[in-house]
Amino acid sequence: MAPSMDAEAIVIGAGLAGLVATAELVDAGRRVIVVDQEPEGSLGGQAFWSFGGLFLVDSPEQRRLRVRDSVELAWQDWLGTAGFDRDEDHWPRRWAEAYVEFAAGEKRSWLHDQGVRFLPNPGWAERGGYDATGHGNSVPRFHVTWGTGPGLLEPFVRRVREGVARGLVTLRHRHRVDALTVTAGAVDGVAGALLEHSRAARGAPSSRQEVGEFRLHAPAVIASAGGIGANHDLVRQNWPQRLGRPPQHMLSGVPDHVDGRMVEISRTAGASLINPDRMWHYTEGIENWSPIWSRHGIRILPGPSPLWLDGSGRRLPVPLFPGFDTLGTLAHIMQTGHEHTWFVLTQKMIEREFALSGSEQNPDLTGKSIPKVLRSRVLDGAPGPVEAFKRHGADFIVEDDLGRLVSRMNALTDEPLLDGGDLEREIRARDNEIANPFTKGSSIN
Ligand SMILES: Cc1cc2nc3c(=O)[nH]c(=O)nc-3n(C[C@H](O)[C@H](O)[C@H](O)COP(=O)(O)OP(=O)(O)OC[C@H]3O[C@@H](n4cnc5c(N)ncnc54)[C@H](O)[C@@H]3O)c2cc1C
Repeated sequence: MAPSMDAEAIVIGAGLAGLVATAELVDAGRRVIVVDQEPEGSLGGQAFWSFGGLFLVDSPEQRRLRVRDSVELAWQDWLGTAGFDRDEDHWPRRWAEAYVEFAAGEKRSWLHDQGVRFLPNPGWAERGGYDATGHGNSVPRFHVTWGTGPGLLEPFVRRVREGVARGLVTLRHRHRVDALTVTAGAVDGVAGALLEHSRAARGAPSSRQEVGEFRLHAPAVIASAGGIGANHDLVRQNWPQRLGRPPQHMLSGVPDHVDGRMVEISRTAGASLINPDRMWHYTEGIENWSPIWSRHGIRILPGPSPLWLDGSGRRLPVPLFPGFDTLGTLAHIMQTGHEHTWFVLTQKMIEREFALSGSEQNPDLTGKSIPKVLRSRVLDGAPGPVEAFKRHGADFIVEDDLGRLVSRMNALTDEPLLDGGDLEREIRARDNEIANPFTKGSSIN
């Protein structure tokens, strides 16, 4: 017998994807139940912590900087990065086509109408460095939201809360979905555990103590439960061969709730899962000196000037500069036999060119404060969060003298792999290049 329905739709996960889906369902006048395993304080999931950098094509921000972008160019870039090469890429390809059209069309005005604004200078994330059909963005397309991740969440949280006020939406926190229910071959609900009340701070791990069960039904169930990034076992299990072996030491750029459990739950209910080996990792991660979640890693966004060296002190090969090709860099690093790399830079470089990803590492942008942006990014000195990492971060070494710097770098790793003379030669060669308006260094022109 078909179960009686509790709502017209159930949304699993109150991250950005779930909130957007719910807000749109509310606009369509639908009754929605949103279930999430985390406490209400973590509403918005990963997006709260994000930089809020969005892919837009041929935007006014790009045009103002004379960046000539187009659907054709963006699609060419997308194909170069995606590497569609198998039958099950049919729908990802169709989805990608629609997304590129969206990013060149109504995406910006849709967000703009909801109050979302962008910084005037789009960033050039993943610029590739290969030929025209290779990996990467040919032009700057990374539009950082004014207010970073929280700024992007704002309108969707507001719309969902309006849905709650209108009696259309019920938010059920501490509801962890453990199974999808299936009747006559169709998913028609969710079942799971009620977790005990938690006062965990936003993003911090919350208790998994069960205090009850629940079961809910609806004709439509949307699973928007995030990825697998905090579950390193799953990451290792699905590790793509093309990237070599997985590193022994990994950090998490995402909170513990990004646990990947819904993948297996969906498979059990009959979902057809594709492309588990397509994953994304950043290689410029450092341990957060003030962690919020387990193994909390922060990505550094260095500019072109710092020297990037492998564990033995060799420069990473062209075009593996920061922000060019993260997966290519990962594959290369794994071939060197050492999992760590070094950035060698001066105080001036850290002040001008060293940024950290994430909303809490950019309080000036997140707080939408123009005076603070000017103070921290234009005046002398490194921005506060960068300076704090320099002082407290386990991965940072500050020295005035190169010999002492190399000794301390060698002391931080299991084996002393660096040679002071080699490093000095690299630094001098680099300085000679920088002192000239012409250079053969492709990261700096
Ligand atoms: C530091 C940082 C910086 C980033 N910067 C950028 C950027 O600049 N640009 C960009 O495009 N992206 C960025 N991202 C990535 C982006 O933020 C995420 O891809 C996006 O927010 C994911 O949203 P989501 O709703 O799919 O998943 P999530 O935010 O993970 O939400 C999923 C929700 O589902 C819940 N859930 C999971 N399993 C269950 C279950 N079994 N039962 C009940 N609930 C469940 C979780 O508790 C969570 O609340 C960044 C991410 C981080 C962490």
